[in-house]
Amino acid sequence: MRPNSLHAADIAHFVHQQTDLADHHEHGAVLMARGDGVHVFDTEGREYIEAMAGLWCASLGFSEKRLADAAYKQLLALPYYHTFFQKGHEPAVRLAEKLIELAPAGLTHVLFQCSGSEANDAAIKLIWYYNNQRGKPQKKKLIGRIRGYHGNTVATASLSGQPHMQADFDLPLGDRFLHVSNPNYYRFHQPGETELQFSARMAAELEALIEREGAETIAAFFAEPVQGGGGAITPPQGYFQAIQPILKKHDILFVADEVICGFGRTGNMWGCETYGITPDILTCAKQLTAAYQPLSATLISAPIHEALIQGSKKHGSFGHGFTYGGHPVACAVGLETLAIYAERDMVGHVQRVAPAFLNGLAAFRGHPLVGDVRGVGLIAGVELMADKATRTPFDPARKIGILVQQKCHEAGLVVRAIGDRIAFTPPLIITEAEIALMCRRFGQGLDAAWMAMR
Ligand code: PLP
Repeated sequence: MRPNSLHAADIAHFVHQQTDLADHHEHGAVLMARGDGVHVFDTEGREYIEAMAGLWCASLGFSEKRLADAAYKQLLALPYYHTFFQKGHEPAVRLAEKLIELAPAGLTHVLFQCSGSEANDAAIKLIWYYNNQRGKPQKKKLIGRIRGYHGNTVATASLSGQPHMQADFDLPLGDRFLHVSNPNYYRFHQPGETELQFSARMAAELEALIEREGAETIAAFFAEPVQGGGGAITPPQGYFQAIQPILKKHDILFVADEVICGFGRTGNMWGCETYGITPDILTCAKQLTAAYQPLSATLISAPIHEALIQGSKKHGSFGHGFTYGGHPVACAVGLETLAIYAERDMVGHVQRVAPAFLNGLAAFRGHPLVGDVRGVGLIAGVELMADKATRTPFDPARKIGILVQQKCHEAGLVVRAIGDRIAFTPPLIITEAEIALMCRRFGQGLDAAWMAMR
C-alpha cells in the first residue's frame, strides 16, 4: 500500500461500520468510486455487479439522474426546514400523504426519521407511550426474533437478535427485550416436519413465551416479513397466519419492519401484502428514496395516533423529534422515487424478472457447497452446507461464507455472506440479461471457493 494513498488514509483514520476491524487494519477496504445502473466501480477501476444493491437499498441502481435532479431542485428552493413546533414543508406533507395512500389498510399517520434504526426506535417509544396513555403501564416488553435485525440504536440493537451487535456493548438493555426462534425452516426443521408443522411449532413457542411472561407485560412483536440481516430468510408457509391470531388474542401490537421489504422487494409493494400481514405499525427506509438520501418512515394506526394527541393534551407537546427527520431534500427525493416506481411499474418488473432470478440461483442447489436456495421477488439466500444429506453446517471457524464472498468479489460480483448464507438483493431495475451475468459470476465464485477448500 502506498503511503499517503486513499487506502492508507482509510486505515489510518476511518472506522468502518459492521466490519472486521482487525482485518481492515491489516488489509484495508475496497473503496467504491462510481456507479452505473446495477454496476459499481472501485477506485482501481474494477467493475462489479452490485447484487446487494449496496445494503438492500439502491433499488434504482447507481446512476438515476432524476433523483439527483430532484435533490438539486429542492436544495435550491428550500434546502432545509424542520417539522418541530407546528412548522413544516410541502415535501414532507406530500410524502406522508403518498405513503398512507400506498400503505396497508389501517395506517393513517407518518413520522419521518433518517434511518431504519431510528424508525424502529421511534416505533418502540411510541408503543411505550401508547400503552401509558391507555392505562397499561405494565405492558412494555417487546418480542423480536433470533437473527432479526432492527437497527443499531441502544433499543433496536437490544430488540435485534444478532449476538455480535450486543456482545460487549452491554446489550440488551434492561429486561424489556425477548426473543423467539429464527424461522429458518431449512436449517431448523425436525426430520419429517412440514413447513406448516414447523410454523405451528414457532407459533406455539411464541404463545408459551407470552403466557410465561404474562400477556399483560407484552406490548409488541417486531418482525421483518423476510428476515434480511439474518440471512435473507423467507418465512415458512403459514408462519404469519399462525402468529397473528395469537398476538390479537393477547392485545399485542404487530410491527412490520419493512425497511428491506418495502417498495417492491418481495414482488408486491409491501412484504405485508406478500405474506398477509396486518400491521399496527409499519417501518420503512432504504428503497423509500432508492438510498439516494437518508430517510425513514414510521407509519402508525389511528388508535396510536389518538394516543399521541391525548399525550399532548397531558404534556403540552409531543416530546419526540429529530433535527433532520423529514428533511425536505430527502422527502423530495422520496417523492420522485415513488413516482419512478409507479411510472416504470417497478413492482410489475420485479414480478417479471423474479423467475429468472430465483430459478437462476436455484440451479446452484446441485453445487457441492450449496444446501438450499430460497427467496421471493428479488431477495434470496443461498445456504452453504458441509453435508447436505444430514444438513450439517460448516464449522463457523472455517468462514466458508466469507471465502465464497471473497471469490465472488474476485469474479466481479458483490454479494454478502451472513454466516454461511449468501444473500442476494440486486437493484430492482436489474434485467434478465444482468441476472444471467450475476448467476454466471456466482458460479465462478462458488467454484473458486470449492477449489480453494480442496
Ligand atoms: N430494519 C431492517 C430490516 C434492516 O435491514 C435495517 C438495516 O439493514 C434496519 C432496520 C436499520 O436500518 P438503518 O441501517 O438505516 O439504520
